Amino acid sequence: MEKIRMTTPIVEMDGDEMTRVLWKMIKDELICPYVDLKSEYYDLSLVNRNATNDQVTIDSANANKKYGVAVKCATITPNAARMTEYDLKEMWKSPNGTIRAILDGTVFRAPITVKGIEPYVRTWKKPITIARHAYGDVYKNVEIDVPGPGKAELLFTGEDGTKISETVFDFKGPGVLQGMHNIDKSIASFARSCFNYALDTKQDLWFATKDTISKKYDHTFKDIFQEIYDAEYKERFEKAGIVYFYTLIDDAVARVMKSEGGFIWACKNYDGDVMSDMISSAFGSLAMMTSVLVSPDGKYEYEAAHGTVQRHYYKYLKGEETSTNSVATIFAWTGALRKRGELDGIQELEQYADRLEKAVIQTIESGKMTKDLALITTLENVTVLNSEDFIKAIRQTYETLS
Ligand code: NAP
Ligand code: MG
Repeated sequence: MEKIRMTTPIVEMDGDEMTRVLWKMIKDELICPYVDLKSEYYDLSLVNRNATNDQVTIDSANANKKYGVAVKCATITPNAARMTEYDLKEMWKSPNGTIRAILDGTVFRAPITVKGIEPYVRTWKKPITIARHAYGDVYKNVEIDVPGPGKAELLFTGEDGTKISETVFDFKGPGVLQGMHNIDKSIASFARSCFNYALDTKQDLWFATKDTISKKYDHTFKDIFQEIYDAEYKERFEKAGIVYFYTLIDDAVARVMKSEGGFIWACKNYDGDVMSDMISSAFGSLAMMTSVLVSPDGKYEYEAAHGTVQRHYYKYLKGEETSTNSVATIFAWTGALRKRGELDGIQELEQYADRLEKAVIQTIESGKMTKDLALITTLENVTVLNSEDFIKAIRQTYETLS
């Protein structure tokens, strides 16, 4: 069979540890036999980030900006232990943070649902996608340990010298104090990324804050979303048959629990941090969560939501058998290739991505899976496969789908 041709390269960001091992297996078994892969390769392994003083991460993000679509392998975010393990020159920043800052993007996380891995919430029939605003609020706060009685004030001094101030609290004794901020530009980028992604995936978009209590701060988020929606997206949403709505965060939480799923839930930074962990565990497994970074001008970076699966890698290095789940990484590849196909008008590439995803799901539903899924499945008589055999089983299923 002739391989599917590509016109524009996808940006390939290789990574670390067990996911790097899976990366190669996926390419060898599931991609390269079928697609004449055009990719611009960046090695984001910690070894190479250290060797290039992290320039490779910046270069890869710029390539993502240029070509529009990237697929990324999980990477190590260095900590003290990694400094010694890899003899690092510096504690390099998280590549995801660097890429997100360059693309000014929003991360959307969605579970991959299969029969036999049931969500803990009975009513959920379809995936729930969480979009988390990745700038500001409590993550860029300043705090004061208030030692004793005194007045706390919030003061803004404009460049022209104008002063605006508010009394926060008259302390009669010790306490704590916090100041935080956000910027209109970042909120607007977040809003546009959400609206674009909703149109892209034809799903309703929910947005919620605590604007009844936070009448300026949270209300600004609500207003910016509404203004951009009315001016730029309302007609397109109506045409696509999807809905945008705003509600109070309390109401959103209650509705999410009673919903069927199948929508995007846009969250402020803290809400997104907390709720995405709740949603992913309620859907069953971190190894089944996909993640895509979408910039407000429509650039995409696809990846798995999990990390480099370090514990399995050390087993692998010792020559022991591993059963690491490659599903989220495979879906990162199919997500990127489908998007590339869509942008370049290559239908075969889109169909290939659909078929490969179907093969993954059928393989699991037929009872062949990795250990993490075998532990939580409701299916009986399952076969636990090792990392490589699971990928080979997917290839076999794929071959039967033609
Ligand atoms: P992790 O790699 O997500 O793994 C945590 C645990 O979750 C694993 O030990 C494993 O549990 C289970 N798990 C995760 N993915 C799995 C898969 N595909 N198949 C089977 N089991 C899976 O998180 P971590 O160990 O905290 O972090 C390791 C490294 O990844 C760190 O250096 C961190 O900086 C990096 N990281 C990168 C990203 C990213 O690039 N986006 C995200 C998060 C973390 P068992 O051990 O019980 O089998
Ligand atoms: Mg969290």
